[in-house]
Amino acid sequence: GIKKVIKAIRNYNQPLVIVVSAFYCVTNNLIDAVQLAKDDKLNADDFVHAIGTQKVNTMLELVSDKQLSIEFKCELDKRLHKLKSYFLGISFIKDVPPFLYDEILSYGERLSSLLLVHVLKSEGIDCSEALPEDLGLITDGEFGNATVNFRLSAENLNQKLSNDKTYIIPGFYGISDEGKTTLLGRGGSDYSASAIAACLNAQCLDLWKDVPGFLSADPRIVDAAVVVESLTYAEAAELAYFGAKILHPSTINPARERNIPVRLKNTMDPEDEGTI
Ligand code: ASP
Ligand code: MG
Repeated sequence: GIKKVIKAIRNYNQPLVIVVSAFYCVTNNLIDAVQLAKDDKLNADDFVHAIGTQKVNTMLELVSDKQLSIEFKCELDKRLHKLKSYFLGISFIKDVPPFLYDEILSYGERLSSLLLVHVLKSEGIDCSEALPEDLGLITDGEFGNATVNFRLSAENLNQKLSNDKTYIIPGFYGISDEGKTTLLGRGGSDYSASAIAACLNAQCLDLWKDVPGFLSADPRIVDAAVVVESLTYAEAAELAYFGAKILHPSTINPARERNIPVRLKNTMDPEDEGTI
């Protein structure tokens, strides 16, 4: 999967702002782990070790540069140590304050961006990781389902990001004005990407999926579902709102307001047009 991502990134041949989601199932595993920790049934060491091993194995397969591997492992250890401490705290107090829940769930994305930035560097692609807290991606502060504050965030992001560099940003969360991690709702990386595209007035918003595009029906129910080549903003927003799983319901509006084209692309078949 990561190799496909590298290829897709290379094909752009221009500086990008890349927003990443968690690896498959990681967010769900984090949710389960929080519950177990609350019941004092989580072995935090084992859990965190398993997540770390998945990342290290991927890195070992894709990064040959010694220095980059060392840097990666060092920062990974720091992040995993924090994550483990949060779980131990929950086991200790047998409760999960909302701010901690959001902080923990953001680790799926935080580990993805850390991995991808090192993999891309080892591929010779000049890039850096940019965290929402450092960029000032500000939200309304609602835990679990926050909305981006576009006025403040646009000002901050335009100051922090330069046009001629590639950045990797973990999706799924922004920061309250008190600096707390606030999640943007399940599937929220799409919305992160769309909010960031809007803040930067991007040329285009490409949402890379592992399906061929927006389908005419749920393929689990309708065998003959076909890819819809194009939708208006209003149609896409409405379908997302009514539960089309491919898009987070808030994704379309930020792009629509600034007339930014949105494309759904398929990592399995990157040449394919997908849905616009
Ligand atoms: N990883 C988060 C989730 O599973 C966000 C996303 O996938 O876009 O909800
Ligand atoms: Mg996802």
